[in-house]
Amino acid sequence: MTVRTRADLDQLPGYVPGRTIPGAIKLASNEVSPGPLPSVVEAITQAAAGVNRYPDNSAAALVSRLATWLDVDADRIAVGCGSVSLCQQLVQATCTEADEVIFGWRSFEAYPIITQVVGARQRRVALRPGHRLDLEAMAAAVTPATRLVFVCSPNNPTGPAVRRDELDRFLDAVPPDVLVVLDEAYHEFVTDPEVPDGVELTRRRDNVAVLRTFSKAYGLAGLRVGYCVAAPPVAEAVRRVYVPFSLNSVAQVAALASLDAHDELMARCREVIGERERVRGELLAAGFEVPETQANFVWLPLGEATDRFNEHCLERKVIVRAFLGDGARVTIGTPEENDAFLAAARAF
Ligand code: PMP
Repeated sequence: MTVRTRADLDQLPGYVPGRTIPGAIKLASNEVSPGPLPSVVEAITQAAAGVNRYPDNSAAALVSRLATWLDVDADRIAVGCGSVSLCQQLVQATCTEADEVIFGWRSFEAYPIITQVVGARQRRVALRPGHRLDLEAMAAAVTPATRLVFVCSPNNPTGPAVRRDELDRFLDAVPPDVLVVLDEAYHEFVTDPEVPDGVELTRRRDNVAVLRTFSKAYGLAGLRVGYCVAAPPVAEAVRRVYVPFSLNSVAQVAALASLDAHDELMARCREVIGERERVRGELLAAGFEVPETQANFVWLPLGEATDRFNEHCLERKVIVRAFLGDGARVTIGTPEENDAFLAAARAF
């Protein structure tokens, strides 16, 4: 007799992280290239002295700071071990077997994995021209079994963000007992004034949960801190399925120190945004199709040529994120890193 694990997990696609190769330029995981600020390193170093103790399970200092920062009540916030953990907690908090989760496709690759792990069913809705989420089709896909819809804005890996008018129409069409998760992992890179602020929306709509992260703009991907803003009963349900102590004490302190350094970090984001526009412009000029992007990456819908492009970039020591048969996502790095990528792309 052998241990019986769930047979349905054999079919689970594994999460494929961006590769790291010594000496190569990594533009595969939408991280920021510069290391943490000295003030953040200092806070992390000090926090290290206390790791013999368990972290504060409620992360009270961070929650309170976020509440002030976002101007929402603390009972509307749930923090977690990266926003990917919060994605899972939101599905766990709303779905059991036979319930349905809807998301656009292609979108963040963790959505189908998480849905399957929870045992719920998934409905993928094709993107519309421009590689944008088709919110109209997503609303039409809702059935009585639908409990949650992921709206990834800006959409990973394609780049566009949803605009205020289309999102309002979508939210008017979705039944109020269906949770709409607005995944704003790349919120800080958005420059289009027509893209709404999800936290604002949560004040008016009790069925909207917003996800944000310290992994991207705040440069703490290795420490795993994310947060969710939602109506108090939703935030409470998310906290109930939290794995105890999963947001570690060093991460909590680093997130606080990063909020202290907000202005400096946002200045870095503005550099990334400038580079994003430059890289996209140069790729367009070189003849690539590149959808509009509001994030810290560009999407190259190369179809069957994706694999070849990936290998071509690897030979030139640039690691991009290839979704085989579909396209390549390339993170915006430092100007030098972007130049190395552009040189590789032009030579393709
Ligand atoms: N949502 C989206 C859309 C993402 O792209 C990512 C990271 N790739 C996440 C959530 C998860 O980020 P983290 O768990 O690092 O907060």
